[in-house]
Amino acid sequence: MWCKHNWVRIAVTYAPPTDGKVEGVNLAVFEKFYKGVTTILWECSLCKEIRKEEMLGKQVEGGSNETE
Ligand SMILES: [Zn+2]
Repeated sequence: MWCKHNWVRIAVTYAPPTDGKVEGVNLAVFEKFYKGVTTILWECSLCKEIRKEEMLGKQVEGGSNETE
């Protein structure tokens, strides 16, 4: 059955940039290390499907620790 999906954000994690040297990776991977990655987990409240979304940088909104 077709599900229209009603995505609900269930988790947000932020992996800060690494301070180590990153070599031998392509640009996309390098950017993840350099800028950090925010991973958001969405769950459909209707069919319970899980969707993962990755974004470069710190994309955590509404937080109390916006220091940058
Ligand atoms: Zn769904």
